[in-house]
Amino acid sequence: MDHFSRSSLNFFVSRSVDRMTTRRPDAEWIRERIRDRRTRIVPVWRSRNLLTGEDALKPVLLSAADLEDYPGLERSAVLLGQREDTVYFAFELPAEFEDVPLRYGRGADFRELREVGPLLGSEDGALLAYARGITHWHRRNRFCGDCGSPTQSDDGGHTRVCTNELCQRKHFPRTDPAIIVLVTRTEDDEQLCLLGRQPTWPEGMHSAIAGFVEPGESLEQAVVREVREETDITVGRVHYHSSQPWPFPSSIMLGFTAEAASSAITLSDGELQHAGWYTRGEIMQSLANGSLRVPRRVSIAYRLLEDWFDTGSQGRLADHLPPGIGPHIKYRDR
Ligand SMILES: [Zn+2]
Repeated sequence: MDHFSRSSLNFFVSRSVDRMTTRRPDAEWIRERIRDRRTRIVPVWRSRNLLTGEDALKPVLLSAADLEDYPGLERSAVLLGQREDTVYFAFELPAEFEDVPLRYGRGADFRELREVGPLLGSEDGALLAYARGITHWHRRNRFCGDCGSPTQSDDGGHTRVCTNELCQRKHFPRTDPAIIVLVTRTEDDEQLCLLGRQPTWPEGMHSAIAGFVEPGESLEQAVVREVREETDITVGRVHYHSSQPWPFPSSIMLGFTAEAASSAITLSDGELQHAGWYTRGEIMQSLANGSLRVPRRVSIAYRLLEDWFDTGSQGRLADHLPPGIGPHIKYRDR
């Protein structure tokens, strides 16, 4: 499988949205589309997405008429693109409006995408993630980083331009690169993987090692540094796996696997509360007795672990997950 296909299997990656980049400069076309009855607007409020349903969630999509009471729709709606025959925009409702959730009927509520992702279809999840990420960028860039003057949205919401005549600096949406890596090694013909946990995570939750890429650093150097900082393990070979947009609030996760060149763990920088080497058998056993939890199945962390686990002889990781932790996306069946 090539990298494009592998990344396409990650949750929050859309396989069907055309971003319509050539339409972005056409302000008149954009105004008409916002007002078009067929257009659908993805609302975001306090970084949350509007959803309806219980076990299987669906996004609630609005029209311009639904949003007439809110100021600045035309000025600040962001063109997301087209999916099938529908054009989509994102719009952030003012955080100070307390009554926003009351307006959209029974059964619908603004919810945290990171938590409810597993209950959504993958294309819906991707559209909501895109809306959440781009509206977050607008909120954080209301002022010019060069001169401090207010900025305003332009290019269908894909740039912000400084309003100071002497500056006019154009600001582009940013995404923060973060690496995540599953480190493995072989001992007595048995493979082990390195999992760690942060103290704030739910009890028993362990995951791959992750951290932000620093300025002046290659992705591979970030992998080596993060693993060393957090566990004191020396990393040998590094292999790229796939990437995943992670708008919580503004990252792209760059997934790697790596081979360890040492085995003794020291929790060096205090970020992890525990880290250990796990064989596939130990993972199965710890999942069964409840002492280990793995990352949510919408995360690339889960996919790195799953791809490694499933190449062994213990079957599929998905079949060893305890029941009662909610329905999940079956990546392999997509
Ligand atoms: Zn400026």
